[in-house]
Amino acid sequence: MTTFLELGLKEDITKALTDLGYENPTVIQEKAIPQIISSAQDLKAFAQTGTGKTAAFSLPILEQLDANSKETQAIILSPTRELAVQIGNNINDFSKYLKGVKVATVYGGANIEEQIRSLKKGAQIVVGTPGRTVDLISRKALKLGNIKWLVLDEADEMLNMGFKDELDKVLAVTPTTKQTLLFSATFPKEVEAIAKNYMTNPVEISSGQKNEGSNDVSHEYYLINEKTRYLALKRIADVNPTIYAIVFCRTRRETQQVADSLIKDGYNADALHGDLSQAQRDSVMDKFRKKSVQILVATDVAARGLDVNELTHVINHKLPDQIENYTHRSGRTGRAGNKGISIALVTKKDKSKLRPIERIIKKEFVQTEIPSGKEICQNQLMHLIDKVQNTEVNESEIEAFLPSIYKKLEGFSREELIQKFVSLEFNTFLSYYENAPDLNDLSKTESNSRGKSSSENMTRFFINLGRKDKLNPARLIGLINEQRITDNVEIGAIDILDTFSFFEIDKNFETTALEAFEANSPEFNGRGVQIEVTKKDRSNGDGKRRGGSNRRRSSGGGNNSGFGRKRNSDNSKSRRSSKTDNRAKDKKTGGFGRRRRTR
Ligand code: AMP
Repeated sequence: MTTFLELGLKEDITKALTDLGYENPTVIQEKAIPQIISSAQDLKAFAQTGTGKTAAFSLPILEQLDANSKETQAIILSPTRELAVQIGNNINDFSKYLKGVKVATVYGGANIEEQIRSLKKGAQIVVGTPGRTVDLISRKALKLGNIKWLVLDEADEMLNMGFKDELDKVLAVTPTTKQTLLFSATFPKEVEAIAKNYMTNPVEISSGQKNEGSNDVSHEYYLINEKTRYLALKRIADVNPTIYAIVFCRTRRETQQVADSLIKDGYNADALHGDLSQAQRDSVMDKFRKKSVQILVATDVAARGLDVNELTHVINHKLPDQIENYTHRSGRTGRAGNKGISIALVTKKDKSKLRPIERIIKKEFVQTEIPSGKEICQNQLMHLIDKVQNTEVNESEIEAFLPSIYKKLEGFSREELIQKFVSLEFNTFLSYYENAPDLNDLSKTESNSRGKSSSENMTRFFINLGRKDKLNPARLIGLINEQRITDNVEIGAIDILDTFSFFEIDKNFETTALEAFEANSPEFNGRGVQIEVTKKDRSNGDGKRRGGSNRRRSSGGGNNSGFGRKRNSDNSKSRRSSKTDNRAKDKKTGGFGRRRRTR
């Protein structure tokens, strides 16, 4: 195998690579590094994120940089701030043993004066987003008149994002003598036009994949309808207890809605999109990198800068508008030698969009059945047992409590104890999926499909009874039915709390329900019953909206139970109640798309 030294890099660089754990060059590095070191010819590289392209262009630049001059010698343009920061950090890591090398990273949304100051100090390499780079050029803070290298990283994405004018402006102030290095995962005609207009006789290299998907990614699709789209997503998460995934959505709104639903349903999820402030985006990405968020729901653009190698799944909640983006999405998994699965949730109508993608990725999608409740329970159960098997027992810490525990449990056999512990942890899942319908049978789920989640069709009521009144879901359902609101009124999620509770019923019967309860003045265990309509949001369990609930709720993270769902911080008592909640709810409604937990 070739080494970095053999590619022509000096020891001060290869030492830094060893520190980073880079043992051998990747395909694109093996091709780009000697080429850029030995020739000033322009270069056009087909490379996706995850192929090691950052080092492929940065290392030969560092090799040839004049560290004694403070002049800007290389400008690297990248589509997003996140990617720019990542490239800047990578270059700092690569150059840690090189004396005098300075990198400045400039991007919008941050203090321009500070960036001007850092440029004034002299940076041989500038990494920037197109808009901010143009700003700094027009303020004369950034001078590119003598650069030797211009890197256009993720050129397709820059053009997708509408940076054509900015690219033209930057290119206009660079010398003709520079070497242009263009990296792109796809080469639509807009990128080819840039290559044609601004590059001279470029040499072409490829990471070996051109526009194709990585060999380490398998591509699957699940046939769904609008009603089952979200349910299928949840099942994918549930059948993979250790899922670590990005769920791609097309719009910011769709992204926030899916993330909110997942969070409400107890998953360890968060949203990443352009409506969030930079600080919020940074925080979400940080949590995701640290795996305290397991499921990141993101737009294509917002996820660009995210550098994670161990994703188990990429899920296309909806297929991208531009099919090239599918390669970008699926290329987030199956990186650094890991295997990954890219899943597309497609309706019958969308199925025709798969073929053009197959032509690009040069692979076929395999239709996969949406997991059944039984399969999910089996996987979750085995995961639980694995966790028990691998749990380390710290005897000294629990020693003092053991005698009384042994005494309390002495009447139970080994089998009974195992059954009890498993049930304690696992009843929620079992009851949730007890009567789970087959989501693959679209004819059953198609009727009544209005393209909305059922909870959008529900009104949420407050009721002044709770556990202390011996209210449980079954009794609450009984109480509602006794009011004769209408024949078989649909009852949705039920949350029983200590002194009060919430329930949902079909929105169409909101007024009738209020009138029925008022007219009947029912009593329950000697207490007069009152109900009120609450606001829709259920994230706080109190019917009131909690500002930025998705962000705060997921920030707790950290406690990654590996269940794809956040481990409930409530005690087992509340989890038991959630079990009964769901059982009742399931009986009535099929029990999907609803919260499993009472908090
Ligand atoms: P990139 O395509 O530049 O975004 O790199 C993808 C990931 O691969 C990053 O996490 C890099 O740190 C890592 N990487 C790049 N080159 C190598 C290498 N030669 N050996 C090991 N990891 C690498």
